Amino acid sequence: MSDRILGSDTNFANLSDPLRAGEVALVGAGPGAADLLTLAAAKLIADCDAIVFDALVSDEVLNLADVGTDLIPAGKRGGRPSASQDDISDTLIELAGEGKRVVRLKGGDPFVFGRGGEEIRALASAGIAFRVIPGVTAGVAAPAMAGIPVTDRSVNSSIAFLTGHEVGGHEAGDSRMDWAALVQAFPVLVFYMGAKNLPQIAQRLIAAGLSDSTAVGVIGSATLPEEDIQIGTLLTAACGELKAASPAIVIIGEVVSDRVAWRGEA
Ligand code: SAH
Repeated sequence: MSDRILGSDTNFANLSDPLRAGEVALVGAGPGAADLLTLAAAKLIADCDAIVFDALVSDEVLNLADVGTDLIPAGKRGGRPSASQDDISDTLIELAGEGKRVVRLKGGDPFVFGRGGEEIRALASAGIAFRVIPGVTAGVAAPAMAGIPVTDRSVNSSIAFLTGHEVGGHEAGDSRMDWAALVQAFPVLVFYMGAKNLPQIAQRLIAAGLSDSTAVGVIGSATLPEEDIQIGTLLTAACGELKAASPAIVIIGEVVSDRVAWRGEA
């Protein structure tokens, strides 16, 4: 048993060793382009019995599956309501119990705002063997596609990854965010799930003391054909002029204004 894999009796030398019957691999699918899959992800996707995939997993990635593989959507896709977390875990346990070799495919990295922790806890308590394959997370990949380094020695020695999902309205999660402390502590902020609430996020950051001329980058559908890069300021974002269609990463800070114009867009 490998000490690295908690609660599992999986035994493998390499992450890409073939799955065994009844084993689940929690696999990061990266931001979209199949080119950004890890070798282990590509191999396991191509050689498994069932793939349980989230809405953000791209068709390009799913197309790597063998024709005989059972493709099971677990998130909102094509208007279907999303499955509850319990249902997803139950599906994984059921498939593994049938002796299937299961890939649980999640966008980006499975443990970054991906509820991967909940899934491995359920697998471990059901005695199911599993392994985890990290993925390229959108919060790093999307800025990179826009030529924005998430850290730059002259700008920041720390970075905050946040969810923008709970910002806005009067949702409970909003009160968990200490905006003043946040802008004090972190020169660069990267929001996942921030597209819808971008104006509210910008307004709160200005209220917390950030200059309204602070640069904002919005990168939608990074690495996919419909990739959309927009650069503005907290002011244009607060006014709703800087718009983003989901999925998008919002990055705020001087690294955005200093972005390397290797795509010829600056
Ligand atoms: N586990 C994922 C994040 C899941 S949360 C990861 O590590 O990347 C979903 C959010 O991820 C989206 O709302 C969006 O903010 C971001 N995201 C995922 N794929 C993206 C893409 N191709 N381009 C831009 N943002 C993306």
